[in-house]
Amino acid sequence: MADAKTGGCYCGENRFEISAPAVDTHHCHCSICRRLQGGAFVTLSIFPKSAFRWVKGGKLDTFDSSAKVHRHRCKKCGSPLTISFEGHESFAPMIAIMRSNLDANSEPDHPADTLRHAFWPDRVKWLDINDKVKKVDGFA
Ligand SMILES: [Zn+2]
Ligand SMILES: [Zn+2]
Repeated sequence: MADAKTGGCYCGENRFEISAPAVDTHHCHCSICRRLQGGAFVTLSIFPKSAFRWVKGGKLDTFDSSAKVHRHRCKKCGSPLTISFEGHESFAPMIAIMRSNLDANSEPDHPADTLRHAFWPDRVKWLDINDKVKKVDGFA
C-alpha cells in the first residue's frame, strides 16, 4: 500500500490519515457548498470511510445541510474538514474531505476521469473558468 495520505485543519487541532485512494474528486459549484465554505466553488475528494481515521482531534462542530448530509468543522479555527452521509443510501460508507486540506505532498489519487465541475449551472458569474475539465449539470 502507498504511504497514507495526511491532512488536517488550519490550526492543527485535527489531523487525519487516509489509507486508500479517493473514488472521486470534483469541483462543487452548488450554492450550499459555496455559502458554507465561503468560496467560488469547493473541491471535494470522496474516500471510503473505512480508509479514513483521525490521528489527532476529530471532535468537530457539525452542521446538517440536509437530513443526510452532515458537514463538520474544526471547533477552534473553523476549517471545514469532512462531510459525512449517515442515512444516505449510496454515500453512507463514504466520507468527503475538502481536497485543499490534504497536505502538500498528499494527492487524492482519484481516477482521473472522475474530475469534473459539478452543478456547473449553479456557478458564480464573477469567476471565469476556462479549463478543459468536463462540466456537468448535477453531481454526475
Ligand atoms: Zn483547526
Ligand atoms: Zn456542493
